[in-house]
Amino acid sequence: MENIGHWIDGSHVAGSGRTADVFNPATGEVQAKLSLASASELDRAVEIAAAAQPAWEKTNPQRRARVLMKFVDLLNRDMGKLAEALSREHGKTLPDAAGDVQRGLEVVEFCIGAPHHLKGEFTDSAGPGIDMYSMRQALGVTAGITPFNFPAMIPMWMFAPAIACGNAFILKPSERDPSVPMMLVKLLEEAGLPKGILQVVNGDKEVVDAILDHPVIQSVGFVGSTPIAAYIYERASATGKRAQCFGGAKNHMIIMPDADMEQAADALVGAGYGAAGERCMAISVAVPVGDETADRLISALAPKVEALKVGPYSSGKDVDFGPVVTAAAKQNILGLIQSGKDAGATAVVDGSQMSVQGYEDGFFVGPVLFDHVTKDMDIYTKEIFGPVLSCVRAQTYEDALGLAMDHEYGNGTAIFTRDGDAARDFAKRVNVGMVGVNVPIPVPLAYHTFGGWKKSMFGDLNQHGPDAFKFYTRTKTVTARWPSGIKEGGEFSIPVME
Ligand code: NAD
Repeated sequence: MENIGHWIDGSHVAGSGRTADVFNPATGEVQAKLSLASASELDRAVEIAAAAQPAWEKTNPQRRARVLMKFVDLLNRDMGKLAEALSREHGKTLPDAAGDVQRGLEVVEFCIGAPHHLKGEFTDSAGPGIDMYSMRQALGVTAGITPFNFPAMIPMWMFAPAIACGNAFILKPSERDPSVPMMLVKLLEEAGLPKGILQVVNGDKEVVDAILDHPVIQSVGFVGSTPIAAYIYERASATGKRAQCFGGAKNHMIIMPDADMEQAADALVGAGYGAAGERCMAISVAVPVGDETADRLISALAPKVEALKVGPYSSGKDVDFGPVVTAAAKQNILGLIQSGKDAGATAVVDGSQMSVQGYEDGFFVGPVLFDHVTKDMDIYTKEIFGPVLSCVRAQTYEDALGLAMDHEYGNGTAIFTRDGDAARDFAKRVNVGMVGVNVPIPVPLAYHTFGGWKKSMFGDLNQHGPDAFKFYTRTKTVTARWPSGIKEGGEFSIPVME
């Protein structure tokens, strides 16, 4: 059995205390033991990071970028190995796992532009003999806490901009799938990153709290469920840290009567059930406008959902999605499915009791499609994070928009229509951070920013894109005067531009 410790000061460090089981979700077997760090292990990592960071910050940004360039090469070289390790712990299919690595890699590519992104501003002759300029300076030691569902992408979204800006970064990955983050740090050091600049401290709440309270750590990035995001934001802010915390989601897709129903159904199948619904940008609510649209949508959707193939990534067969991450996640999803049935929703497709031959102990949940879901049901109000799609019928476009607007989450949403006016109105009015027009999962590319609204995000700056360079630096503005000629006397009133 593999023992996974931490990555501190350029080497693997075995843990000394508590451990957690890491499962293979397809078989239900424990495949590794993960050390859960204590505050003293974190202290050591912070001490090392603080000692290493000033030299890294002094390294010119182009040289820092070259390390990231090499890292991209190594990610491509090891793509197959990374995807396999990711699927083995997470359960997602191999192509989806490679996509997880790829979407992180694209942010690394964006961060290679650090010399450009870090350029400050300059005003020549802001006053007589006065120049004014601003610079972006690294924060120092920064940290990030990441979820299980994108164990490659989300760590890279955080550490790539952090280190490109000259910071040291301490990563606390999810305890469910820690292997890929450990592989990433090794690859970065192979690419030339000095030791101590990126370290991995594995663990649970104990080490998270130690990160939040540590006086040397300057910022915390968090991605995970909303209650924990709110907690992290509050506690990190209370100790004076900069924080950006991304939470859960309930993403609505509005289907207008004029939409191409086959296209909409295909989009819903991929966006609702891909990765077993364990994506913060999954569509979990379909909102057809009008009963006739709803009937057409359900008839197009049901056979596609019934035909979905569920199985382990390793079967060599063409599977659409794999198991959910843990037995506890499976129980939670099954409980919510039952609550939907009890509340009167129609289970048009019910795969909740399916099992995969030869993998009976795996954490598989088959696809479920509910129709006639109403606003008061738990399957509508709560994030299920499983392969369950709920159809809520709206009578008008305004009702459909209202559903997305009134929901407490505001991560992503989409509209399917051929009517440019409706699409434009929707994109403008909806209070959700990422909007798709005939695109079901509108995840912005690396050079735009990613972030939700309402209970899906606590903080102000988004992930990747220009916001990442703002989050991982502080601005310093210098006003410089080089006096010449006869000196004036003291000035006692505030200088203004007349
Ligand atoms: P989670 O909140 O259970 O865990 C996330 C991280 O927080 C992990 O590293 C975990 O160890 C840590 N953690 C868990 N409980 C904690 C506690 N009590 N105190 C301190 N730290 C704690 O989330 P998850 O199950 O790993 O991920 C799924 C969730 O993440 C979903 O809600 C999903 O919507 C959300 N998510 C959001 C985004 C986004 O960008 N908004 C992206 C991906 C996932």
